[in-house]
This record gives sequence, structure tokens and C-alpha cells, in this order.
Amino acid sequence: MPLTRPAALVALLLVVPVLLASLARPAAAAAADAVAADAAPASGSAIHEVLDRSARQRLAEFERHRVAPELSASLQADVDRIMGQLAVRPDLQLLVVDGPFHAEMLAGHVLVVSASVAVLPEGERLFILAHEIGHAAMGHWGELCELYGRLIPGEVRQDLTDAVAPQLGREASVLVHGHEYAADAHAWQILRSLGHGMDSVLAALQVVPNMGDTPTHPSTRKRYARLRLVGENEPRSAAIRPASP
Ligand SMILES: [Zn+2]
Repeated sequence: MPLTRPAALVALLLVVPVLLASLARPAAAAAADAVAADAAPASGSAIHEVLDRSARQRLAEFERHRVAPELSASLQADVDRIMGQLAVRPDLQLLVVDGPFHAEMLAGHVLVVSASVAVLPEGERLFILAHEIGHAAMGHWGELCELYGRLIPGEVRQDLTDAVAPQLGREASVLVHGHEYAADAHAWQILRSLGHGMDSVLAALQVVPNMGDTPTHPSTRKRYARLRLVGENEPRSAAIRPASP
């Protein structure tokens, strides 16, 4: 995937945490447009400033679609159940929004979910939420920012970013595919501990059926196959890291 401008680099990052990219695409694409307008004149900024600014802008956009507290209560209860299963709980806020299906861990700590997730069967809801919480628990946003910072160490300038764009595209894709598998394994471990089976995983992954490989996500088929390998009883999944000393 050719990436030729800072805005395109940021746009790739924007869609990274989205669990089911095609349904979520309208929101992600709109946000990417908004960021593109901002990121283009970002010369002089360090990449982490560009990333922070784009995350803040996207958050402000999502905030405009926040639903009433009573509509987010059931999803908050699901999140609390999942957090109750974790030995180490990441700091996170839940933001439930109106609009098309969406599930994303924004900037590593804001769980943005559309209210429509609340009407899914329990096992599917829990898988989707536990997957996103897995991204936060395992520090995936930080790893991605580290990659950006390593390849764009100075100011964000088009000539510099053009030079590293192909490498960044390749490395980011490999990194985030690994994040997806790890978040799936995390969600599967949580789901089992809450009494749900692989049928819920399959149903959750098929909320968007027949999704092929994208720069940010392995295909649904590969994700499901990987989880089948983890199996019903495998305790050593990539899901939950031991607490740091
Ligand atoms: Zn994900």
C-alpha cells in the first residue's frame, strides 16, 4: 500500500484499531479526511505531536455523537465484567456513540463503541469489547507510536516521510496484524472465562462476513483459524501478559 504523505501515514494509523474495518469505515474515513486536512501542514511537528493532535480531533468528533448515559449503561456493565477478569486493568474510558457499527480503542485508552453493539448477543458483545480492551491491556498503541517514532525521528516533512513510507507501511502492517491476533486471543481467553464458546467468536467475527486481508487486519478466515489453533484449553495464549515487576 503506497503511502506518500504524512496525512496518509496518519490515516493508516487511524484505521488500525478498528476491529471490523469495513462497517466502521465511514467513521474512520471521515476522521482520516479531517486529519488529512490538519496533518498536511504539520511540518515542524514531531510525529508524536501529529498523532496526538489527530487522536484529539477524532475524539472530539466522536464526542459529538455520544449517546445519553442510560444508553451506554449496559455496555459499561459489559466492560466492567471484562475488566473484572483481568489481573492488570488498563486505564480506559468508554465512549458510546450513535451511528454505524464501530469498535475501536482510540489512542490506547478510549474505547469507542457504537450503541448498536449493545443489541448483539452477549457472547458476541463480550468478544468485541474484550478484543478492544486487549489492545489497551497489551499496549498496542504505544508500540505503534514507537514504530512511527523510530522511522520518523525528526520533524514531519513530506520529503522525509516519503522516503520511509514504503518501509513504514510494511512494518506497520506486520505489527498491527500481530496486534489483531493477540487481541483476538485475549478476547477468547476472557470469553471462555465468562462461559462462552467458539460459536460466539465465529459470530462476532462474521458481523462483517468474508472480510479479506487489509493493511490493518488479517482476513476473518485467518483470525478464526488462528483462534482455533489456540484451542479450547490452551492457557498460554498471547492474551494476558504477566504483570510487570
Ligand atoms: Zn483490533
